[in-house]
Amino acid sequence: MTKNVGVLGYPLHHTVSPAFQQPAFDALALDTRYHVWALPPEELGEFVHELRRPDYLGANVTIPYKEIVPGYMDELVQDAQRLGAVNTIQNLNGRLVGYNTDVPGFTRALKNEGGFDPHGSRVLLLGAGGAALACVAALVNEQAASIQVMNRTPGRAAALVKRFAAWAGETRLAVLPPDQDALYRAVAGSDLIVNTTPVGMLRGSAPDALPFAPEIAEALGPHTLVYDLVYNPPLTPLLKIAEAHGARTLGGLPMLVYQGAVSFEIWTGQPAPVALMMERAYACFAG
Ligand code: NAP
Repeated sequence: MTKNVGVLGYPLHHTVSPAFQQPAFDALALDTRYHVWALPPEELGEFVHELRRPDYLGANVTIPYKEIVPGYMDELVQDAQRLGAVNTIQNLNGRLVGYNTDVPGFTRALKNEGGFDPHGSRVLLLGAGGAALACVAALVNEQAASIQVMNRTPGRAAALVKRFAAWAGETRLAVLPPDQDALYRAVAGSDLIVNTTPVGMLRGSAPDALPFAPEIAEALGPHTLVYDLVYNPPLTPLLKIAEAHGARTLGGLPMLVYQGAVSFEIWTGQPAPVALMMERAYACFAG
């Protein structure tokens, strides 16, 4: 029986996941089809219920359903429980299990592609939305020394810090006030800067912009890795200016591929062909 799996969201333009998931199933000779399921909200509940059928492996979940889907799960695993956000559903013999693979995806990309060990590091996080939550969970899991969160809406950064207060362990979490001097010092004193805002994203509201004023980039240098979660384009304005100031850089595509690789491993129980998946994902942006 052909198995089905796919990405669930609404709307779903330009999704990259099928381009690297289908070749992974094919490479392992698994009779599985990866679909794009763009479903309006009124169809979501019934569709997720159907995923219990034996011909479904599960699904990936993207915007705007990551925080809605947990309500339909029979069980939430690890970070999905803690964050209240699911990006991967597994059909386990008719029971739906929700995972959050953005968290290990962020970490695997950081370590394997960025060559960066977050343990004991000082981090500046830009943004405080859904992606920022997954990043903070990952960095707390890896025992980063400190995370300063700066967001356009400071109250949202404060809410994020408060949310993690009980779980942060050794990691010091703080809100960085939206003040240029404080930001300059934070950039100069960080080992890792993560952009979790959509600033710099093609077809977004600010495709040519930077998440901070260009003068702030003067504080960058080889001591810092700049990790931009935006993956379209692979080389964002932030990564360009970071490179120009001698900082090391990492784009968002490896995280997208690694979160998908962890999903693949959950569905199949087999190691994902990560090199192939990475190659196919980058091919979407070639030329
Ligand atoms: P979200 O929940 O909507 O959060 C967006 C965050 O960015 C908020 O903190 C928002 O600030 C801030 N922001 C939005 N527009 C801004 C602007 N023009 N200037 C300054 N700050 C701005 O979105 P999300 O789900 O976290 O996704 C954010 C980005 O991460 C997207 O580009 C997405 O593609 C990317 N992402 C990548 C991966 C990957 O695998 N590489 C995974 C997840 C997400 P306010 O609170 O003030 O609104």
